[in-house]
Amino acid sequence: MLRIATRLHRIQPSPSSMAGQRARELRAQGRDIVGLTAGEPDFDTPEHIKEAARRAMAEGQTRYTDVGGTPALKEAVAHKFKTENGLAYAPNEIIVGTGAKQVIFNAVLCTVEAGDEVIVPAPYWVSYPDIVRLAGGTPVFAECAAAEGFKLTPGKLEQAISPRTRWLVLNSPNNPSGAAYTREELAALGEVLVRHPHVWVLTDDIYEHLLYDGKAFATLAQVVPALKERTLTINGVSKAYAMTGWRVGFGAGPAELIKAMVKLQSQSTSGTCSISQAAAHAALTGPQDFVTTSRQVFQQRRDVVVAALNDIPGIRCHRPDGAFYVFASCEALFGARTPAGQTIRNSNDWILHLLEAQNLAALQGSAYGIDTHFRISFAAGTDHLEEACRRIAAARAELSD
Ligand code: PLP
Repeated sequence: MLRIATRLHRIQPSPSSMAGQRARELRAQGRDIVGLTAGEPDFDTPEHIKEAARRAMAEGQTRYTDVGGTPALKEAVAHKFKTENGLAYAPNEIIVGTGAKQVIFNAVLCTVEAGDEVIVPAPYWVSYPDIVRLAGGTPVFAECAAAEGFKLTPGKLEQAISPRTRWLVLNSPNNPSGAAYTREELAALGEVLVRHPHVWVLTDDIYEHLLYDGKAFATLAQVVPALKERTLTINGVSKAYAMTGWRVGFGAGPAELIKAMVKLQSQSTSGTCSISQAAAHAALTGPQDFVTTSRQVFQQRRDVVVAALNDIPGIRCHRPDGAFYVFASCEALFGARTPAGQTIRNSNDWILHLLEAQNLAALQGSAYGIDTHFRISFAAGTDHLEEACRRIAAARAELSD
């Protein structure tokens, strides 16, 4: 009989991947499902990036690369950090992995063991707590209320730190809330962190370029240089260049940490796909107009969705600063009943009702650590989004208070 290792019982399958799969299954059964679960841009990868991949293949760049990334891509990553973020990193302070997810996975597995704590502000990207649990560590959640813009405050951070804290995870712009920290807010968190030298910081900046209303992006190591020696800055090409399937992410931090991460990766996946690395190089070094255009399109869509949702009685949402999700409150609907007589008690009941009553697939806030909310992705065309909001309004109208 197959025996699954206990470490696997500590984690759950990714709720967003499961929801996507469920929507595809229901569609295959003939149901007219409108899906708002996507964690990826709906655009195609820009042509010049695909062309670079074709060229790499034609030129025979089809062999194993250095485990931590090709010298050319690492140089492009160093240039990106220098010019866009004012951060100087040498090649031995950079690692390229199979998506930002693998880079985070490497970092946690290399540094966290039983009894260690990792502070994860909630709402959070679903994978952080489970990666920590897989490593044997304990995620410590710091709840960031909607009233505080879903952002960690210095006071909450101070409270969450213990002698066992290994990492603080900061994700800005945030999945699922879209909240982005300003320079001042990062500086205030930095003041606390400077007083706790045993705490390292993992900043996940994967949505850096999807920041709206002309807001300027800031990352911790840049704002508080004293923290650079214990910060791992994570980024990648998935969201900014519509390259989720190419699987390239990168991280930069102290050489000793990067060396350990490369060692781990050398015994798991080795170097990222050589063709994808060539494509990522083209993304970072080529024309950047795609980034600007997609940012504008996402901002317009955000405004459509926020306005439509706030028109629905009982649904409330803030205007996200970045990323492509709206994290809306459904708390006012708790206690209401569906036509079948079921009571909506939590975010999961609400998204099940959306699916059953209106064939609308969204994600329950409980998966992100905040059960009063639900997440919808606006990485879809405006027609699709308007239809989705009509369905949410119709599902709401079916409830009796
Ligand atoms: N970090 C956050 C906050 C995300 O939302 C995602 C993907 O949804 C990732 C990391 C993973 O990115 P990648 O595709 O580079 O692995």
